[in-house]
Amino acid sequence: MKFLTDCSLGMLAKWLRIMGFDTLFYEGSADRSLLTKAGREGRVVLTRKRDMAQRQFSGQMMILVSDRVENQLKEVIDGFSLEPASWHPFSRCLRCNQVLIGIEKDKVKDRVPPYTFESQDCFMTCPGCRGIFWPGTHRERAEKWIRLHIQTDRP
Ligand SMILES: [Zn+2]
Repeated sequence: MKFLTDCSLGMLAKWLRIMGFDTLFYEGSADRSLLTKAGREGRVVLTRKRDMAQRQFSGQMMILVSDRVENQLKEVIDGFSLEPASWHPFSRCLRCNQVLIGIEKDKVKDRVPPYTFESQDCFMTCPGCRGIFWPGTHRERAEKWIRLHIQTDRP
C-alpha cells in the first residue's frame, strides 16, 4: 500500500515512512494535481481537506479527522487494516522514501563517527541520498513511541 499525503500531513508522512510504508509528501495543498499524481502512481490520498471528498477520483482517498499525528496514524492503520505483519519499521529512508539496503561494515569506516563504527555492526545505506544509517537511540525512541501509541490498544 502506497500513500500520498497533502502538505498539512508532514508528520504523518514521516511516521508512515518510519513504519516502512512507501509515502510521498505533496508540497502543495490538496488539489487536482495531487489526485492526478496519486492516480498515476497508484497511491492512496491522505488529506484533512473535507471538500476533497467531492472531487472526482477513481483511486482511494482517506479524509483524516484527527489533528494529532498518533491518532492520524491510527486512522490509517485501522482504516486500511494494516496489520503489524505488513509493517517494516526502519526499512525506508525518512528523507527520500527509498528502501534502505545493507552495506558492509568495512565500506562505512570513513563515513560514520569512530565510536559508531566501533559499537555498531549493522549498517544500511540509502540509494537516494547515500546516507548511512544504523540502529541507534532514535530507533529505540521511535519503536517505543509506536508500541505506546499504536500497538497497545489493538486486540
Ligand atoms: Zn535517502
